[in-house]
Amino acid sequence: MQKHIAVIGAGIGGLSLAKALELRHIPFTVFEKVPVSKGLGMGIQLSPNVVRVLHSLGLNKEIENISHRCHGVEVRSFKDDKKLVGWRIAYDTPYYQCRYVIFYILWFI
Ligand SMILES: Cc1cc2nc3c(=O)[nH]c(=O)nc-3n(C[C@H](O)[C@H](O)[C@H](O)COP(=O)(O)OP(=O)(O)OC[C@H]3O[C@@H](n4cnc5c(N)ncnc54)[C@H](O)[C@@H]3O)c2cc1C
Repeated sequence: MQKHIAVIGAGIGGLSLAKALELRHIPFTVFEKVPVSKGLGMGIQLSPNVVRVLHSLGLNKEIENISHRCHGVEVRSFKDDKKLVGWRIAYDTPYYQCRYVIFYILWFI
């Protein structure tokens, strides 16, 4: 008999697990205690190690479409906007920035 999985929490971990279960046709239900509308406006950085996992879930195009690819970082002075420090980001896997809502959008695609 096929087991039905209860995924507790619709955070990054829970939704990634749910996506992986969906790809394997394993039935599941996601339970979330907080209303979904809370906290979705905040930004999040998706570092290459995270992006590699999302790619393994087949979400390459979806992430690219709703994120900004980051090629470098600059820290500037609030006083005079002078550049204090900066570095380029040049990994094989992209480094993205997006709104947290991405995970909910990805889920409903
Ligand atoms: C200020 C801040 C900034 C961050 N910025 C980044 C960033 O830029 N990039 C990055 O990769 N990471 C960032 N992180 C870390 C990232 O947010 C966490 O690593 C990630 O959210 C962990 O995901 P998770 O699914 O394990 O847990 P969570 O995101 O905490 O999700 C757990 C979910 O389970 C729900 N839940 C808990 N108990 C129950 C229950 N009993 N029943 C039902 N639902 C339940 C909670 O409401 C929650 O929605 C940041 C963290 C903070 C605090």
